[in-house]
Amino acid sequence: MTAELKKLQEIVNQAKNIVFFGGAGVSTESGIPDFRSVDGLYSQSYKYPPETILSHEFFMDNTEEFYRFYRNKMLCPDARPNKAHIKLAELETAGKLKAVITQNIDGLHQMAGSKNVLELHGSVLRNYCMKCHQFYDVETIAEGEEVPKCSCGGTIKPDVVLYGEGLDSDVMNRSVAAITKADVLIIGGTSLAVYPAAGLINYYRGNHLVLINKSSTPMDAIANLAIDGKIGEVLGAIKL
Ligand SMILES: [Zn+2]
Repeated sequence: MTAELKKLQEIVNQAKNIVFFGGAGVSTESGIPDFRSVDGLYSQSYKYPPETILSHEFFMDNTEEFYRFYRNKMLCPDARPNKAHIKLAELETAGKLKAVITQNIDGLHQMAGSKNVLELHGSVLRNYCMKCHQFYDVETIAEGEEVPKCSCGGTIKPDVVLYGEGLDSDVMNRSVAAITKADVLIIGGTSLAVYPAAGLINYYRGNHLVLINKSSTPMDAIANLAIDGKIGEVLGAIKL
């Protein structure tokens, strides 16, 4: 066990209120690509960059093309939780972890058993008719190649925060409350480049800010503990 892992274990041993804040890197070990970092891969089959396609304006104006990209790239029905998701769920069951705040939209934390998951960017598992607000599951979206329509005729939209859309204020408020109360804040798998989500960590008042990333980030300097490693391996090594 490295010195960093030993220190993380000591922090977890003493912790009573851990909050985890995670980004795309948490799910890459489950085979879900981080579209922000592999932009070039899509240029061959799509005329627009992912940031354009995954915008509110594009959804409204080019719904069919949005769904072509969304079904191919954003839905990963075979993905399963990895060691990071599983350990976080176990920490919550053990009463040590109080909330998972995630930028991911894949639902893998819940699949692993986590209960208090604050999804800053929504979830592909929830979908709504834009006209009558009828709920639809992800299977309804995954089927077929047409724009998914409600029985009322309205267009079904994923409950995912697209570029150009605001974050859900209730989720934001609950995230702020959780971070403010945390004695340990573990941040993993995010470059912290996405605002305002990244600004949330400014609400942390404790002295156990742990950063886990495969490469160093500008935040390493303010962390109490920065661990260079794969998030699944690092969290997976924690003993309960
Ligand atoms: Zn409807």
